[in-house]
This record gives sequence, structure tokens and C-alpha cells, in this order.
Amino acid sequence: MDNHSPAMFLGDALALDFLNSVATPVDTPVDWIENGEAFLRWLEQAGLVPRETIDSLRSQALPGEIDKVADQARNLREWFRTFVREHKGKPLRPEAMGELEQLNRLLERDEGFSRVVARQTDEGEIFEFQPMRKWRTPEALLLPVGEELGRFVCTEDFSNVKACEGPVCTMLFADHTRGHRRRWCSMAMCGNRAKQAAHRDRIRKA
Ligand SMILES: [Zn+2]
Repeated sequence: MDNHSPAMFLGDALALDFLNSVATPVDTPVDWIENGEAFLRWLEQAGLVPRETIDSLRSQALPGEIDKVADQARNLREWFRTFVREHKGKPLRPEAMGELEQLNRLLERDEGFSRVVARQTDEGEIFEFQPMRKWRTPEALLLPVGEELGRFVCTEDFSNVKACEGPVCTMLFADHTRGHRRRWCSMAMCGNRAKQAAHRDRIRKA
């Protein structure tokens, strides 16, 4: 698996999927945002940036410019990982606010606006108030990510944020299951591995 294979979206929250954009699905770590091109692919798969925007930023960017933005994205990712790892498993306390300055500084750069658009529905055409963003430079690609992180901090119950119990797995997820008993990033990966290990254990003991 390399970063050309589709990224994994198992976190049940896009902000956590962003953290999971570096992971070790088999034996070797894969970074799905290791350079500019990879970051563009991830943003498109995540549905955070429209394809036309990606195409036009790609064609207008100077050499290396989007790679630099990917560097910043990885820095943002690792900063947010520290925050989430520290606060997961319990409700977020007001004191955590002091650690979010970096995120607010990013969000301040946003050049958002809204426009009225007409949309076709089953009941005919309706008008919609649609949030938009000016994509003046490739750095604007960080803004929808920042927005997801900010929304996550404000809306997710951090009690439900868990790390996969796979012994070498680094994936994080929000456990939205009833009863909150989710233990694995995915059954196909760590869940089955744990089942097989338990099975081998039972055989050995028997
Ligand atoms: Zn896992």
C-alpha cells in the first residue's frame, strides 16, 4: 500500500481521518499527505476541496509551492495529534482553550463569503445560501482542514475519542456506536488480527 492507494476514512470524524492520514495499515507506515500532490489527492478524497479548485491551484502553483503547504499540513496534523491524544477519553475541559491559539490563527486567515445559488430539487428550483471561499493561494488549502478541526473540538464529545487497541496501530476514532464498545480502527485490520492472536493463544493454552 502506498500513498496512491485510497486514504482511509475510518475515524468517523474527518478531523480524526486527518490524523489517520499517516498510518501503518500493513507493515510499513504510509503518509497520505507526504507531498503536495498527495495532499491534493487526500483533500479531494476527503471532499474538502472541489476538484475544479484543486485543478486550478495545481496549474497555477509555482514549483514546490504545494509541497510547502503539505509540510504545513503535516505540522498542523502532528500538533493536533498531540492535542487529541492528551485530551481523548474525557470531556474537553475549558482549560484546553489555551492550547488552541494556533488553530485560531489559521482560521483567521479565511476569506469566506456566501452566495445565493439556485438548486434543482424534486419540488422544483430552490434558492440556497451557500458558503464559499476565495482560494487565492495554495495555502488556502489548509483552511477547510482547520475548519474541520475547529468544528470537531466544538462539537465532538472527547469522551468518545479513542485510540485503536491494535498493539502497533496509531489510528484514532470517535466511537459513535451504541454502548460505546468500539475497540478497533476496523474489524478488517486490527479487529481480525486481535481475534487471530486470541485464537492462537487459546490453542497454545489448550
Ligand atoms: Zn487499528
